Amino acid sequence: MSITVVGSIAFDAVETPFGQRDRMLGGAATHFALAASVLDQVRIVGPVGDDFGDEEMAILQTRGSNVDDVERVAGGRTFFWKGKYGWDLNTRDTLDTQLNVFEHFQPKLSEDSQNADVLFLANIQPGLQLQVREQCEAARFVALDSMNLWIDIARDELLDIIGRVDCLVLNDEELRQLTEKPNLISAAHAVLEWGPSMVVAKQGEYGSALITADDFFALPAYPLHQVVDPTGAGDTFAGGFVGFIAKHIDQLHDHEVLRNAMAYGTALASFNVEQFGTEGLQDIEASAVRERVDDLWRFARFERMEVALVD
Ligand code: AMP
Repeated sequence: MSITVVGSIAFDAVETPFGQRDRMLGGAATHFALAASVLDQVRIVGPVGDDFGDEEMAILQTRGSNVDDVERVAGGRTFFWKGKYGWDLNTRDTLDTQLNVFEHFQPKLSEDSQNADVLFLANIQPGLQLQVREQCEAARFVALDSMNLWIDIARDELLDIIGRVDCLVLNDEELRQLTEKPNLISAAHAVLEWGPSMVVAKQGEYGSALITADDFFALPAYPLHQVVDPTGAGDTFAGGFVGFIAKHIDQLHDHEVLRNAMAYGTALASFNVEQFGTEGLQDIEASAVRERVDDLWRFARFERMEVALVD
Protein backbone atom coordinates (compact mmCIF):
# COMPACT_ATOMS: atom_id res chain seq x y z
CA MET A 1 0.00 0.00 0.00
CA SER A 2 1.20 3.52 -0.44
CA ILE A 3 0.68 6.39 1.96
CA THR A 4 0.36 10.02 0.89
CA VAL A 5 1.24 12.65 3.48
CA VAL A 6 0.75 16.40 3.33
CA GLY A 7 1.95 18.66 6.11
CA SER A 8 4.75 20.99 7.08
CA ILE A 9 8.25 20.41 5.76
CA ALA A 10 10.29 22.78 7.86
CA PHE A 11 13.42 24.22 9.29
CA ASP A 12 13.17 24.15 13.07
CA ALA A 13 15.10 26.05 15.72
CA VAL A 14 14.85 24.22 19.02
CA GLU A 15 16.12 24.80 22.53
CA THR A 16 15.90 22.04 25.14
CA PRO A 17 17.72 21.67 28.48
CA PHE A 18 20.15 19.37 26.64
CA GLY A 19 21.23 21.70 23.89
CA GLN A 20 19.99 23.75 21.00
CA ARG A 21 19.85 23.73 17.24
CA ASP A 22 19.36 26.94 15.23
CA ARG A 23 18.31 25.33 11.97
CA MET A 24 17.59 21.67 11.48
CA LEU A 25 15.29 19.73 9.19
CA GLY A 26 11.85 19.32 10.75
CA GLY A 27 8.17 19.56 9.99
CA ALA A 28 5.21 17.33 10.66
CA ALA A 29 5.29 15.62 7.24
CA THR A 30 9.04 15.05 7.54
CA HIS A 31 8.84 13.28 10.91
CA PHE A 32 5.81 11.32 9.76
CA ALA A 33 7.52 10.14 6.56
CA LEU A 34 10.70 9.09 8.35
CA ALA A 35 8.64 6.86 10.63
CA ALA A 36 6.04 5.52 8.18
CA SER A 37 8.77 4.62 5.68
CA VAL A 38 9.97 1.93 8.13
CA LEU A 39 6.69 0.16 7.34
CA ASP A 40 5.48 1.17 3.88
CA GLN A 41 5.95 3.32 0.77
CA VAL A 42 5.40 7.03 1.46
CA ARG A 43 4.72 9.92 -0.95
CA ILE A 44 5.33 13.39 0.49
CA VAL A 45 3.32 16.44 -0.65
CA GLY A 46 4.30 20.01 0.22
CA PRO A 47 6.32 23.06 -0.79
CA VAL A 48 9.85 24.03 0.22
CA GLY A 49 11.81 27.18 -0.54
CA ASP A 50 15.03 27.49 -2.47
CA ASP A 51 16.83 27.50 0.90
CA PHE A 52 16.01 23.76 1.06
CA GLY A 53 19.15 21.92 0.02
CA ASP A 54 19.84 18.59 -1.67
CA GLU A 55 21.01 17.21 1.66
CA GLU A 56 17.60 17.86 3.24
CA MET A 57 15.82 16.48 0.17
CA ALA A 58 17.92 13.31 0.48
CA ILE A 59 16.78 12.88 4.10
CA LEU A 60 13.14 13.20 3.01
CA GLN A 61 13.83 10.31 0.62
CA THR A 62 15.05 8.00 3.39
CA ARG A 63 13.90 4.39 2.86
CA GLY A 64 12.56 5.24 -0.59
CA SER A 65 10.00 7.93 0.25
CA ASN A 66 8.86 9.63 -2.94
CA VAL A 67 9.34 13.41 -3.25
CA ASP A 68 7.87 13.98 -6.75
CA ASP A 69 5.17 16.15 -5.14
CA VAL A 70 7.58 18.19 -3.02
CA GLU A 71 7.48 21.50 -4.86
CA ARG A 72 10.52 23.77 -4.73
CA VAL A 73 9.22 27.36 -4.87
CA ALA A 74 11.73 29.65 -6.56
CA GLY A 75 12.41 32.72 -4.44
CA GLY A 76 10.42 31.25 -1.54
CA ARG A 77 11.52 30.34 1.98
CA THR A 78 10.83 27.04 3.71
CA PHE A 79 8.34 26.95 6.64
CA PHE A 80 10.14 27.91 9.86
CA TRP A 81 9.27 27.07 13.45
CA LYS A 82 11.08 27.91 16.68
CA GLY A 83 10.33 26.36 20.06
CA LYS A 84 11.74 26.20 23.55
CA TYR A 85 11.15 23.39 26.07
CA GLY A 86 10.93 23.59 29.88
CA TRP A 87 13.28 21.57 32.12
CA ASP A 88 11.18 18.39 32.23
CA LEU A 89 10.33 18.69 28.50
CA ASN A 90 6.59 18.60 29.24
CA THR A 91 6.06 22.25 28.46
CA ARG A 92 6.93 23.97 25.21
CA ASP A 93 6.62 27.56 24.05
CA THR A 94 6.35 28.36 20.37
CA LEU A 95 8.58 31.40 19.83
CA ASP A 96 8.10 31.81 16.07
CA THR A 97 6.05 30.32 13.23
CA GLN A 98 6.69 31.48 9.64
CA LEU A 99 4.40 29.81 7.09
CA ASN A 100 6.48 31.18 4.18
CA VAL A 101 5.91 28.95 1.10
CA PHE A 102 2.79 27.43 2.73
CA GLU A 103 1.03 30.79 2.62
CA HIS A 104 0.22 30.60 -1.10
CA PHE A 105 0.52 26.85 -1.59
CA GLN A 106 -2.10 25.26 -3.86
CA PRO A 107 -1.62 21.50 -3.66
CA LYS A 108 -1.86 19.70 -7.01
CA LEU A 109 -1.22 16.05 -6.40
CA SER A 110 0.20 13.69 -9.01
CA GLU A 111 -2.04 10.79 -10.00
CA ASP A 112 0.04 8.36 -7.91
CA SER A 113 -0.33 10.49 -4.79
CA GLN A 114 -4.07 10.90 -5.41
CA ASN A 115 -4.49 7.14 -5.71
CA ALA A 116 -2.90 6.25 -2.39
CA ASP A 117 -4.98 3.92 -0.22
CA VAL A 118 -3.95 5.73 2.90
CA LEU A 119 -3.77 9.48 3.45
CA PHE A 120 -2.25 11.33 6.38
CA LEU A 121 -3.13 14.99 6.75
CA ALA A 122 -0.28 16.07 8.99
CA ASN A 123 -0.37 19.37 10.83
CA ILE A 124 -0.79 22.40 8.56
CA GLN A 125 -3.57 24.91 7.74
CA PRO A 126 -6.89 22.96 7.73
CA GLY A 127 -7.79 24.62 4.40
CA LEU A 128 -4.82 22.90 2.76
CA GLN A 129 -5.69 19.59 4.39
CA LEU A 130 -9.18 19.96 2.91
CA GLN A 131 -7.84 20.61 -0.60
CA VAL A 132 -5.69 17.47 -0.41
CA ARG A 133 -8.55 15.39 1.02
CA GLU A 134 -10.70 16.37 -1.96
CA GLN A 135 -8.04 15.13 -4.38
CA CYS A 136 -7.72 11.73 -2.68
CA GLU A 137 -11.25 10.43 -2.99
CA ALA A 138 -10.18 6.81 -3.29
CA ALA A 139 -8.34 6.71 0.04
CA ARG A 140 -9.56 3.85 2.24
CA PHE A 141 -8.16 5.28 5.46
CA VAL A 142 -7.59 8.96 6.22
CA ALA A 143 -6.05 10.26 9.44
CA LEU A 144 -5.62 13.88 10.53
CA ASP A 145 -3.45 15.79 12.97
CA SER A 146 -3.74 19.46 13.95
CA MET A 147 -2.78 21.81 16.77
CA ASN A 148 -3.98 24.60 19.06
CA LEU A 149 -2.99 27.35 16.56
CA TRP A 150 -5.54 26.05 14.02
CA ILE A 151 -8.18 25.46 16.72
CA ASP A 152 -7.72 29.14 17.62
CA ILE A 153 -7.63 30.72 14.16
CA ALA A 154 -9.29 28.26 11.72
CA ARG A 155 -11.79 26.34 13.82
CA ASP A 156 -14.60 26.10 11.22
CA GLU A 157 -12.29 24.73 8.52
CA LEU A 158 -10.82 22.32 11.05
CA LEU A 159 -14.27 21.00 12.00
CA ASP A 160 -15.06 20.62 8.30
CA ILE A 161 -12.00 18.45 7.62
CA ILE A 162 -12.46 16.41 10.83
CA GLY A 163 -15.87 15.38 9.48
CA ARG A 164 -14.17 13.88 6.42
CA VAL A 165 -11.56 11.63 8.05
CA ASP A 166 -11.53 8.20 9.71
CA CYS A 167 -9.11 9.01 12.50
CA LEU A 168 -8.22 12.13 14.47
CA VAL A 169 -4.79 12.16 16.14
CA LEU A 170 -4.45 15.09 18.54
CA ASN A 171 -2.64 16.11 21.72
CA ASP A 172 -4.66 15.35 24.81
CA GLU A 173 -5.08 19.00 25.86
CA GLU A 174 -5.91 20.09 22.29
CA LEU A 175 -8.64 17.45 22.13
CA ARG A 176 -10.20 18.95 25.25
CA GLN A 177 -9.77 22.49 23.84
CA LEU A 178 -11.33 21.51 20.51
CA THR A 179 -14.41 19.88 22.04
CA GLU A 180 -14.63 22.19 25.05
CA LYS A 181 -14.94 19.07 27.21
CA PRO A 182 -12.65 18.72 30.23
CA ASN A 183 -12.87 14.90 30.26
CA LEU A 184 -10.78 12.92 27.76
CA ILE A 185 -13.32 10.14 27.11
CA SER A 186 -16.19 12.59 26.65
CA ALA A 187 -14.01 14.72 24.39
CA ALA A 188 -13.08 11.72 22.22
CA HIS A 189 -16.70 10.58 22.01
CA ALA A 190 -17.75 14.07 20.94
CA VAL A 191 -15.30 13.76 18.02
CA LEU A 192 -16.66 10.29 17.15
CA GLU A 193 -20.07 11.97 16.72
CA TRP A 194 -18.57 14.29 14.08
CA GLY A 195 -17.53 11.44 11.75
CA PRO A 196 -14.20 9.80 12.60
CA SER A 197 -14.39 6.17 13.77
CA MET A 198 -11.34 6.48 16.01
CA VAL A 199 -9.49 9.10 18.03
CA VAL A 200 -5.91 8.91 19.26
CA ALA A 201 -5.03 11.25 22.13
CA LYS A 202 -1.28 11.89 22.36
CA GLN A 203 -0.17 12.33 25.97
CA GLY A 204 3.54 13.10 25.64
CA GLU A 205 5.71 11.15 28.06
CA TYR A 206 2.59 9.43 29.40
CA GLY A 207 1.95 7.73 26.06
CA SER A 208 -1.24 7.69 24.06
CA ALA A 209 -4.84 6.48 24.19
CA LEU A 210 -7.01 5.08 21.42
CA ILE A 211 -10.75 5.58 21.68
CA THR A 212 -13.35 4.01 19.37
CA ALA A 213 -17.10 3.63 19.89
CA ASP A 214 -16.59 0.25 21.61
CA ASP A 215 -12.94 0.11 22.67
CA PHE A 216 -10.32 1.89 24.72
CA PHE A 217 -6.61 1.13 24.69
CA ALA A 218 -3.76 3.05 26.28
CA LEU A 219 0.00 2.54 26.04
CA PRO A 220 2.68 4.31 28.05
CA ALA A 221 5.52 5.96 26.19
CA TYR A 222 8.58 3.72 25.88
CA PRO A 223 10.51 4.19 29.16
CA LEU A 224 13.74 5.98 28.25
CA HIS A 225 16.40 7.22 30.66
CA GLN A 226 17.09 10.29 28.59
CA VAL A 227 14.95 12.32 26.25
CA VAL A 228 16.87 14.98 24.36
CA ASP A 229 14.33 16.62 22.01
CA PRO A 230 10.62 15.71 21.85
CA THR A 231 10.04 17.78 18.67
CA GLY A 232 8.11 15.71 16.15
CA ALA A 233 7.36 12.84 18.54
CA GLY A 234 3.65 13.10 17.78
CA ASP A 235 4.22 13.01 14.02
CA THR A 236 6.61 10.10 14.38
CA PHE A 237 4.01 8.27 16.45
CA ALA A 238 1.46 8.95 13.70
CA GLY A 239 3.92 7.60 11.11
CA GLY A 240 4.24 4.29 12.92
CA PHE A 241 0.52 4.09 13.66
CA VAL A 242 -0.64 4.90 10.12
CA GLY A 243 2.20 2.86 8.56
CA PHE A 244 1.10 -0.25 10.43
CA ILE A 245 -2.53 0.34 9.43
CA ALA A 246 -1.49 0.75 5.77
CA LYS A 247 0.10 -2.70 5.94
CA HIS A 248 -3.13 -4.17 7.35
CA ILE A 249 -5.73 -2.12 5.52
CA ASP A 250 -7.99 -5.16 4.92
CA GLN A 251 -8.14 -5.86 8.68
CA LEU A 252 -8.91 -2.33 9.75
CA HIS A 253 -11.76 -3.33 12.03
CA ASP A 254 -9.64 -5.78 13.99
CA HIS A 255 -8.89 -4.24 17.41
CA GLU A 256 -5.53 -6.04 17.47
CA VAL A 257 -4.42 -4.21 14.32
CA LEU A 258 -5.11 -0.87 15.98
CA ARG A 259 -3.35 -1.93 19.19
CA ASN A 260 -0.29 -3.08 17.28
CA ALA A 261 -0.38 0.17 15.32
CA MET A 262 -0.24 2.02 18.66
CA ALA A 263 2.79 -0.05 19.69
CA TYR A 264 4.67 0.69 16.44
CA GLY A 265 3.88 4.39 16.78
CA THR A 266 5.11 4.37 20.37
CA ALA A 267 8.31 2.47 19.58
CA LEU A 268 9.21 4.71 16.65
CA ALA A 269 8.51 7.88 18.65
CA SER A 270 11.02 6.70 21.26
CA PHE A 271 13.83 6.77 18.69
CA ASN A 272 12.80 10.26 17.58
CA VAL A 273 13.12 11.82 21.04
CA GLU A 274 16.54 10.35 21.81
CA GLN A 275 18.26 12.79 19.45
CA PHE A 276 17.63 16.24 17.97
CA GLY A 277 15.28 16.65 15.03
CA THR A 278 15.27 13.79 12.55
CA GLU A 279 18.66 12.38 13.65
CA GLY A 280 17.19 9.51 15.67
CA LEU A 281 15.06 8.25 12.80
CA GLN A 282 17.38 8.42 9.83
CA ASP A 283 19.40 5.24 10.38
CA ILE A 284 16.97 3.23 12.44
CA GLU A 285 17.33 -0.58 12.30
CA ALA A 286 14.28 -2.80 11.88
CA SER A 287 15.52 -5.19 14.60
CA ALA A 288 15.77 -2.31 17.11
CA VAL A 289 12.17 -1.27 16.36
CA ARG A 290 10.98 -4.87 16.83
CA GLU A 291 12.80 -5.13 20.17
CA ARG A 292 11.06 -2.04 21.52
CA VAL A 293 7.67 -3.27 20.32
CA ASP A 294 8.33 -6.56 22.16
CA ASP A 295 9.25 -4.63 25.30
CA LEU A 296 6.03 -2.61 25.09
CA TRP A 297 4.04 -5.80 24.75
CA ARG A 298 5.66 -7.16 27.92
CA PHE A 299 5.02 -3.91 29.83
CA ALA A 300 1.36 -3.72 28.82
CA ARG A 301 0.51 -7.39 29.39
CA PHE A 302 -0.75 -8.77 32.68
CA GLU A 303 -2.27 -12.05 33.75
CA ARG A 304 -5.62 -11.63 35.44
CA MET A 305 -5.59 -13.01 38.99
CA GLU A 306 -8.56 -13.79 41.15
CA VAL A 307 -8.70 -12.08 44.53
CA ALA A 308 -11.37 -12.06 47.20
CA LEU A 309 -13.01 -8.63 47.34
CA VAL A 310 -15.01 -7.06 50.14
CA ASP A 311 -18.50 -5.82 49.25
P1 AMP B 1 5.20 18.07 17.33
O1 AMP B 1 6.39 18.09 18.26
O2 AMP B 1 4.67 16.69 17.09
O3 AMP B 1 4.16 19.05 17.72
O4 AMP B 1 5.73 18.55 15.91
C1 AMP B 1 6.69 19.53 15.77
C2 AMP B 1 6.86 19.84 14.30
O5 AMP B 1 5.70 20.52 13.86
C3 AMP B 1 8.04 20.74 14.06
O6 AMP B 1 8.99 20.05 13.27
C4 AMP B 1 7.46 21.98 13.36
O7 AMP B 1 8.17 22.31 12.19
C5 AMP B 1 6.04 21.59 13.03
N1 AMP B 1 5.10 22.69 13.33
C6 AMP B 1 5.12 23.54 14.39
N2 AMP B 1 4.10 24.41 14.30
C7 AMP B 1 3.42 24.12 13.17
C8 AMP B 1 2.25 24.67 12.52
N3 AMP B 1 1.58 25.71 13.00
N4 AMP B 1 1.82 24.07 11.38
C9 AMP B 1 2.48 23.01 10.89
N5 AMP B 1 3.58 22.46 11.44
C10 AMP B 1 4.04 23.00 12.57
